[in-house]
Amino acid sequence: MQTPLLAFGRVALDAAGELVAPNRCAACDSRIRRRTLFCASCAVSVIERRTRYPSRECAVFAYGGAIATAIARCKYGGRPDLAPRLGEMMATFADSFDGQVDVVVSVPLHPRRLADRGFDQAALLARQIARRLVVPWAPRALARVHDTPKQASLDKAARATNLKGAFVVRTPEAIQGRRVLLVDDVRTTGATLSGCVTALRTTGAEHVWTMVLANRDREEDERTW
Ligand SMILES: [Zn+2]
Repeated sequence: MQTPLLAFGRVALDAAGELVAPNRCAACDSRIRRRTLFCASCAVSVIERRTRYPSRECAVFAYGGAIATAIARCKYGGRPDLAPRLGEMMATFADSFDGQVDVVVSVPLHPRRLADRGFDQAALLARQIARRLVVPWAPRALARVHDTPKQASLDKAARATNLKGAFVVRTPEAIQGRRVLLVDDVRTTGATLSGCVTALRTTGAEHVWTMVLANRDREEDERTW
């Protein structure tokens, strides 16, 4: 007999946030082997970046293809179950941070947006990375104090201004004197990450690394490639 959880016919989360249903492609939902993220036809659209690990700004993939689809489904399509899977895959790229990081944090959502969405995708990515590195995860260390206009509608200069003072550290004791790995799903201009890095450094972080799943800054990608 099917459990109520499986009866939804899609991957669902149990109380511990673990996968309990058969594996499906994160971009198109076709059946795939366990422990993989994409089907073969979606996987060919994924472009891994030549990021140096560890560095101050790590981005695993170029934004686009199946990665962009999976992120959009997760954030806007009501699929929080995809976040731990994306995080687990992202974490496999974080091994070179081993011994370089004391705590993992993530770019926070404003409480109002968190209430609308029901989950914080960046925090779920960060949790998988912290598990992999066996270091503390501090999901409430940073907070977004202004509900800023959506960054997507702004140009580069306006994004930086929009985010000035938007972030504060709520738990300084988790940050002071620590080497911090700051995680987000997508980097567009880097303004959001910079706002968080400033807040972390001002609070007394010894060092701040950043790592994102996908980079959509074209200029940055052209420099890297
Ligand atoms: Zn697929």
